[in-house]
Amino acid sequence: MRHYNIPIFIPHQGCPFQCVYCDQKIIASKHEAPTLLEVSETIERHLATIPSEDTEVEIAYFGGSFTAIASEVQETYLQAAAPYLEDERVVGIRLSTRPDCIDRDILGRLDRYGVKTIELGVQSLDDQVLKMSGRGYTSDDVFKACQVIKDQGFKLGIQLMIGLPGDDRARDMQTTKLAIGLNPDMVRIYPTVVIAGTVLERALNRGDYVPLELNEAVGICKDMYLRFAAAEIPVIRMGLQTGEELRREGSVLAGPFHPSFGELVQQEIFCDQARSLLGDYMRRNGLQAELQLWVNPRDLSLLTGQQRRNVLFLTEHFGMRSILIKTRSDIERLTIGISQPHGLEVDTFLKRQEMLERIQDEP
Ligand code: SF4
Repeated sequence: MRHYNIPIFIPHQGCPFQCVYCDQKIIASKHEAPTLLEVSETIERHLATIPSEDTEVEIAYFGGSFTAIASEVQETYLQAAAPYLEDERVVGIRLSTRPDCIDRDILGRLDRYGVKTIELGVQSLDDQVLKMSGRGYTSDDVFKACQVIKDQGFKLGIQLMIGLPGDDRARDMQTTKLAIGLNPDMVRIYPTVVIAGTVLERALNRGDYVPLELNEAVGICKDMYLRFAAAEIPVIRMGLQTGEELRREGSVLAGPFHPSFGELVQQEIFCDQARSLLGDYMRRNGLQAELQLWVNPRDLSLLTGQQRRNVLFLTEHFGMRSILIKTRSDIERLTIGISQPHGLEVDTFLKRQEMLERIQDEP
């Protein structure tokens, strides 16, 4: 069953919060709240392109703070989705909001209108980071919100950010550990970038904020992803959506912005997996000048990396002459095989699951 979200952006006009990375004035000036006619046109347009067999469609109200907007406005948008739920063309509504804009009454209303999934913009579970980022709530508020969301039977999504003011790798890993304890149904991870016109831009100009380098952000995201994967929690997105605004010249001033950020993280994971397999092979068979690695054709670019970066790194790391990459469509996805050069049979495989089990055994 394939899942589709029909995204509808609901701006939080007049948001009273001051998150340091947010350019809400620009967002609010660029996005008018959609009319009900526009909402139904958007839904119809998407439904016309989504296959009806074996699919599960949700209407996704995103924008960050759905339950912080006026309750009558929330109701209007929720009602707009009702006909599609009634004729079963969509299975539910999902929305994103802040952890401190959730309580049992709000959840009762969402439930009545068919909301199934709530994504919380948690960002961090470190109180110092939350404070320095101007989020306006504590980790305790997050724990309480997650608990009531789960208790009332909603699916829970958690959005996390790395590279916020006061943040570092250790705090990100601690946030990951605590987030796993919340048992979310899905996670998104976003690297912090400096957007023009934000508090962060002023901090950057004063030298009070140093953004992550791209390779640091990819490395932290990789470690978080692997921890979530080992706990069987899907990470459904890594990296910002490269919408029109972010692509506009002068919009992103600094930070680890990359249009294929998630792909870079996946390539690093394949590199680690291949390093683990090559290391095991050489421990058993002695040093080798040449070897072949095998993958499913759909994983080829993830194993080789951008501009063959992974192959070059692994060749140098193991002091080899060359590593040949071969594909075979009967190899499972996320699995790497190894063999002698020019061999037609694979000697050993390392599945992603086995790699994750090793991570789980680490302290
Ligand atoms: S990110 Fe923060 S400041 Fe921006 S709209 Fe959301 S709550 Fe308001």
